[in-house]
Formats: sequence, structure tokens, C-alpha cells
Amino acid sequence: NNEALYCIGCGARLQSEDPQQAGYIPAASLKKQLADDQAAFYCQRCFRLRHYNEIADIAIDDDEFTRLLNGLDHKKALIVNVVDLFDFDGSVIPGLHRYVGDNPILLVGNKADLLPKSVHRSRVRNWLEQQANQQGLHPVATILTSAKKNFQLDELLAAIDKYRQHRDVYVVGTTNVGKSTLINAIIKSTVGASDLITTSQFPGTTLDQIQIPLADGQSIIDTPGIINGTQMAHFLGKNELRYISPQTEIRPKVFQLTPPQTLFLGALARLDYLSGKRSSLVVYVENQLLVHRTKTATADDFYQRHAGELLTPPADPKKLPEFRRHEFQTHQPQDLVISGLGWIRIPANSHYALYLPAGVGYSLRAPIV
Ligand code: GDP
Repeated sequence: NNEALYCIGCGARLQSEDPQQAGYIPAASLKKQLADDQAAFYCQRCFRLRHYNEIADIAIDDDEFTRLLNGLDHKKALIVNVVDLFDFDGSVIPGLHRYVGDNPILLVGNKADLLPKSVHRSRVRNWLEQQANQQGLHPVATILTSAKKNFQLDELLAAIDKYRQHRDVYVVGTTNVGKSTLINAIIKSTVGASDLITTSQFPGTTLDQIQIPLADGQSIIDTPGIINGTQMAHFLGKNELRYISPQTEIRPKVFQLTPPQTLFLGALARLDYLSGKRSSLVVYVENQLLVHRTKTATADDFYQRHAGELLTPPADPKKLPEFRRHEFQTHQPQDLVISGLGWIRIPANSHYALYLPAGVGYSLRAPIV
């Protein structure tokens, strides 16, 4: 029949015409699955992501998503952009400001419960706003939430009510920022039913376009999450994700380093402290992620021998893109933010080489603690 089918991974409408576009599923496998009377389908991209942990090479602004966003600038809407506080770089939507036209943006930094209590919320909010500004986003308000712990959700709902002014509300975000969890929490508090949307620890699972009716006839519309290829999560298997995606408050780990010494974060990142005073570096990552200190002189050898065993995740380091070396210096104490992993507080007047899988980004910011 001609009924439209949607990928249960990314929400894209399934099609068998163009492998380069969102929602592609080979005609033969669609036919087979239909014959098997399957009720749920993954597009090829989400299927690969699920089963082989590989991210198909598709642009971040894939056509389906671009079309959806393009529609927004001639609608009157409030755009609620949800980002992951723990992975801003991995969760930002490139060029969002160009798509939304004059519509106001409400920025939501989710997963606030992961930040240690010692972290100043107002600093995090300022930092988030700065990051957003650098992306050309000028939100009317910025709110830090925890969808999981029901933190600041009333404030979020109040802000939505304040800024939407009888317009529809579009909730946009990349996969894994907690958008489904947040929408579920909103649904729960507005209509009382819970768990209407699938949530998962695995990136890429949001059903297509959930609409929550509002009292004035407008709706809150949940858009499919787009996959941001820079997310570290894409290089890891499903059961390895828990080593980088914190589920509970992060406990900082302190390391005394005398250059030249090296820190490994699992087998995913390496930081060489090249020169500077003997200092403490404070690592804010998922509590289970192994952080290992070693001499820089033997670090290559150490990685060769231990990656995939002592140094994990990933269990199979061959799956990682090649490492890229980035060198930088500090003049003030800074937080080195590694996309998808967390951050390291590093001292002033010091010099580093950072190794990350190609495609994984980093940034430096004023310390948040
Ligand atoms: P979506 O892809 O953006 O819809 O993300 P999900 O709602 O499926 O959530 C992705 C992962 O993040 C799941 O493991 C959630 O449990 C987790 N998560 C969502 N919201 C929060 C939160 O506020 N705090 C924490 N710690 N985890 C969250």
C-alpha cells in the first residue's frame, strides 16, 4: 500500500530512491521486512548505526532535516533548542539561526544533574550563552534543566508559555540530548500520560513529529533528532556508551602531573602535558571512564600495548578514526572541553598536545568551578 513509513531511528520518511538522502532503505530489504510483517523499520543509516556502530557518511544538515528547518522561518513559532550541557559541540545544530528566521529561540541546556554541585549554575549558563552566540544564536532565554531529575521543568514550561505568545512550539535538537525524555516529562505534566515517546541511551531514537496540543489550539511539536556526526558516541558500541555518557553526578578526579606526563581517557583521548609547573589537573568525565597517567616518553608504547584492554573504551580501538594532534598553551587556568567526553581543568602557563579521533572537537573556556 502507499501508506508513508517512517524510520523509528531518526524519524525520516522512508524512501528507496536516493541513498544519499535521509530515510533511505534499500527496496529489497523494505520488501523483505514488509513480507515478514514487521511493524518497525530503520533506515539504512540508523540500522548501521545500531548494528555496526558506524556512522554513514551523511551531511549534518541532511535534506530531510534541512527541509524541516527551512519550513520554520515562515511559520510563526517559538523554537526550543535542546542541547546537552555535557556535550555542547556535539549537540549544537550548525546554522540553526539561519533557518529560524525572526522566530525567538529558547535555549535549553539539559542534563544539568550531571554537573557536580561545586559547579556554579550561573557560570554554566553564561558559558552556554557565549557558546550559542558564537554559533549566531541569540536566545530570548537560557534555561538549565534535567529532564531526568525533573529539574527546572516548571521554569521551562513557564518560559515556553511566556515567549510563545499563541504560537506553535518546535522542539529541536540533535539525537541523545534528552529531547524525548524532556518531551515525555512535558507530556506527563501537561496531559498526565507518561512514556509516550521511546527514549534510549543510544543516539538516534526519536519517533517522527510528536504533537502535544496546547490549550489555545496551538501545539508543541517534537521534531526528529538529527545526528551530529561529531558525537563521540558514534564510535562506540551500545554497551560502551555508559563509559562516556554520565548517568549520575560527576565526581571530579584529581591528578598531579609533572611534565612531560600524559593522561589517557580510556583509549579515546590523550593529553600530553609538555611543559609547565607541577600541577593538579582535574578531570570531569563519566565516573567509570578509566583515566590513566603515564610518562609521555613511553605513552605511544603504552597505548599500543593497552588500548582495548586497560585503556577502554573502545574495546576495539581499530574502529576509531585516526588520532589528530592539537597543540595549545594556556595563560590562565582553563577548562579543556572534549566534545562528548567532558572536561579537564588545566593550570595557567602550561603547554599541551591533545590527541583526539579525527572529527572530535575540543574547546577552551574559563573554568566553570
Ligand atoms: P533524544 O535522542 O534527544 O530524544 O534523547 P533521549 O531522551 O532518548 O535521552 C538520551 C539519553 O540521555 C538517555 O540515556 C537518557 O536517559 C539520558 N538523559 C536524558 N535527559 C537526561 C537528563 O536530564 N540527565 C541525565 N543525566 N540524563 C538524561
